[in-house]
Amino acid sequence: MARPIIDEDCCKGCGRCVAACAKKCLELSPDHLNAAGLKPVRYKGEGCVGCGLCFYNCPEPYAIKVDRG
Ligand code: SF4
Ligand code: SF4
Repeated sequence: MARPIIDEDCCKGCGRCVAACAKKCLELSPDHLNAAGLKPVRYKGEGCVGCGLCFYNCPEPYAIKVDRG
């Protein structure tokens, strides 16, 4: 099963991946901060189809990648 893999401490919480995901399966953490004090993105747990749009829209090289399952 495809899923995004997030390194939350590399994430700047910019939300580009959230906006890019047509399946709406990403969100910024409402109540959790990473080591830099930013709200990182998180996977809602279902709906990923492995399209890679989150990866291609992320400006941070190591923040998000996709396991195509
Ligand atoms: S791979 Fe596609 S469906 Fe999965 S989280 Fe990224 S943008 Fe969304
Ligand atoms: S994973 Fe990348 S695109 Fe998504 S919020 Fe974090 S830094 Fe922004």
